[in-house]
Amino acid sequence: MSVDRSTIWPYRDGEPGDFYYSRYGHPTGVEAERRLGELDRGHALLFASGTGAVTALALALLSPGDTIALAAGAYYGTGVTFDELARWGLRHVEFDQTGPPPEGVQLVWLEAPSNPFLTMPDFTAATAHPAPVVVDATAATPIHLRPLEHGADFVLHSATKYLAGHDDALLGAVVCKREEDASRLKEFRTRSGIVAAPDPSYLLLRGLKTLELRVRRQTESATELARRLEQHPAVHTVRYPGFGGLLSFDVAGAQEARQVETSLRLITNATSLGGVDSVLEARARWEGDRVPAGLLRLSVGLEPVEELWKDLDQALASLRDMKLT
Ligand code: PLP
Repeated sequence: MSVDRSTIWPYRDGEPGDFYYSRYGHPTGVEAERRLGELDRGHALLFASGTGAVTALALALLSPGDTIALAAGAYYGTGVTFDELARWGLRHVEFDQTGPPPEGVQLVWLEAPSNPFLTMPDFTAATAHPAPVVVDATAATPIHLRPLEHGADFVLHSATKYLAGHDDALLGAVVCKREEDASRLKEFRTRSGIVAAPDPSYLLLRGLKTLELRVRRQTESATELARRLEQHPAVHTVRYPGFGGLLSFDVAGAQEARQVETSLRLITNATSLGGVDSVLEARARWEGDRVPAGLLRLSVGLEPVEELWKDLDQALASLRDMKLT
């Protein structure tokens, strides 16, 4: 299908048809939602960004005074968004997602695997909780994990990452188990205006055509790189759940991390993840002492694995000649 950028569609015989004003819905978005819904086996809705999807879910499902149990070590921006919403009476508490969520919360928020600690949630413990369960599966993608089949009520994606896959579209998605939840969320989306535009929706549709190929190749390369990093004398800890293209590893400290970042020749020193080009960055830049100072997050792209290793190896070798200040 080609992208339809219209914001209006003519009425027929004086009546609006399926599409009439693009804030309510547009053909490119609906087709991308159909395709993503098939992949995650639920009812998908697109949003202007992953963060827009986080905001919409929290505001549409909860009321002032409610509390979210958020997986500790999940994408730091999710907690920052919840902090922003605290002024409207939404609270959040962090918990270890490898065990049961705390009692007395109205929403359970997991991340599979968490970014950048790469822990996996205990789905059985979470779904035994009476509150609805959201799983941010941005890093796993539906190729490796379909949370609705593990009892979750909602899947959240920053579609900016693997789903669109080329670092050129900002998008979010929520996939709902129940149609009535999707209707509620869609109404909230229309009223809040946190909608995805046709162009990024089109880039998502195109990205989804190669999702499986990309993710399988990224998994193969990440598995091999994690194995080699584990044996490297300058590397302390490697975190890799065994699938997907995202991993993190630690060098000794902040200066060593900066040295690796600035010595790379092939891998781009940038933020974000999930694109066809490999990117690496020290997360302490954004997350402060929430993460080890030497933690480097690597999103493995589609470059030949030997070239990626050559680049990492030479960047790590440069640590030997480094003058510590
Ligand atoms: N969830 C995860 C796991 C992420 O990594 C990100 C962004 O890095 C988001 C949500 C937010 O998505 P976006 O940047 O599309 O708003």
